Amino acid sequence: MKNRIKTILAIFMIGFIISACVPKQADVAGKNESKPKNVIMLIGDGMGPEQIGLLLTYARQAPNSVIIDRKTSFDRIMEQGGIMGMSMTHADNVLVVDSAASGSQLASGQFAGSEMIGLDKDGNSVETIVEKAIKAGKATGLVSDTRVTHATPAAFAAHQPHRDLENEIAVDMINAGPDVMFGGGLRYFVPQEANDKNAPILKELEKMTQGAVKIKSKRKDSRNLLIEAQQKGYALAFDKSQMESSKGKVLGLFTTSAMPDGIEVNRTKDDPKRTIPTLKEMSSKAIDILSKNEKGFFLMIEAGLIDWAAHYNDTGLMLHEMLVMNDTLEYILNWAKDRDDTLIVVTADHTTGGFGFSYQGKGIPEAKSLSGKSFQNRKFAPEYNFGNPAVLDKIYNQDLSYSSIFLNKFDVLPKQEQTPATLAKLVNQHTRFPITEEQAARVLEQEDNPMFVEGHGYMGTKTVPKLLVKDEFFVYQTDDNRQNLLALEVASAQSVVWNTGTHTSTPVIVFAKGSPKAMSPFGSILHHTQVGRNLIDAVLNK
Ligand code: MG
Ligand code: ZN
Repeated sequence: MKNRIKTILAIFMIGFIISACVPKQADVAGKNESKPKNVIMLIGDGMGPEQIGLLLTYARQAPNSVIIDRKTSFDRIMEQGGIMGMSMTHADNVLVVDSAASGSQLASGQFAGSEMIGLDKDGNSVETIVEKAIKAGKATGLVSDTRVTHATPAAFAAHQPHRDLENEIAVDMINAGPDVMFGGGLRYFVPQEANDKNAPILKELEKMTQGAVKIKSKRKDSRNLLIEAQQKGYALAFDKSQMESSKGKVLGLFTTSAMPDGIEVNRTKDDPKRTIPTLKEMSSKAIDILSKNEKGFFLMIEAGLIDWAAHYNDTGLMLHEMLVMNDTLEYILNWAKDRDDTLIVVTADHTTGGFGFSYQGKGIPEAKSLSGKSFQNRKFAPEYNFGNPAVLDKIYNQDLSYSSIFLNKFDVLPKQEQTPATLAKLVNQHTRFPITEEQAARVLEQEDNPMFVEGHGYMGTKTVPKLLVKDEFFVYQTDDNRQNLLALEVASAQSVVWNTGTHTSTPVIVFAKGSPKAMSPFGSILHHTQVGRNLIDAVLNK
């Protein structure tokens, strides 16, 4: 009797296992299939939970939020059935990651060493997701609003021991040959002779670019990578209209270095005379081109300037960079809305700045009456100032980045005019958080410090910002921290705290949207090497 039951159970179990292995009718028909044809990856550089939090706080609570329905594209990806995971980002054998190592880990699925591009932890070249997709016959694209050769896009198509080797990275990227490369960074593609005002090559380049981009070279050789790219089948684009009319394989270099910052992008995005494309426009054109490939495509889009804003603790700029990301993701979600053949993954390479709104003992609101029963005999009088949502509009209404205030407005003045009074005037003109002359003086305070250079010892003195001379911890740039010092002066008025001018180890969020099978591996606690392996599996249809 017992044996019979066992046999019946066994038969039943076998039947169950077989039925579980046989694809369901819907899968056979191709709906909800596990194999996405297209994979679109969006990386917000430095876009940790703190940065997404700023966007959400602004969208939900700013009295005059420009996000009319108060829903961000991050809300939408979840409403459309997306899922969320969390991912650790550290590089090999260290606690914190930089964009090069993080990009390399995302692109290869393997641990990398700090500041390496497209290498494993031991320094060997690793095949990236772009190179694998090309081998599989898919179309590929890299889009960034920093330089095409900057760490994040570089990690997807170059192999170099250090991220600073942008001249070598430019050569690698053209050789790797993704169909679309859009971004800034023309200076790594033109020969060094272009810096000579009288050189014939300068005239040639000015003609070629039709004056759209200022010609300047950072190369240490005479290679003209624009010509080399053309020989490898690339069409070239240097402004928005050239980009829009381009077909097939295209290299678009729209600025000498990084592209315009988020404040400028948002101020000019509806200006018909604008010649530099936005991140959204570059992404849209990239998809137009790549989606012509019948085998599908892999596209990496980087909103790269979120990180730069966070390094400088520039809250207003960071909000605008998040709005650039929001617009771009919104476009991607709309494009993919009715498709079941596209996997979208949105994440950051790390988080930057340790940002947050915070409460304080300063500016405690006045006690007020409340109608609730518990307040019949007492006033509502919290002991702290928990922050007023009105600061969100003020943060949005900053009309120039800290970087532009210092580098384009202050430093260009004659030396005798570079005074605390002038700085206060500029800050008060371009931000809604006024500072006094005394505060401006603190921002500009400098002092001479002994300078020690490794391998050389004492090398005289260097002038550095006074408040940050103790050591180089928390410091982004040791020779010019005026932007971070300004952030400190306005922090209380903004109800904002910044922990650092560099990156932190806080895990980042991973959003994924696609067929249930394609997106489910991302809904977990991951490390970025696993995110990379998941992406490679998706591209290779494993
Ligand atoms: Mg980057
Ligand atoms: Zn960074």
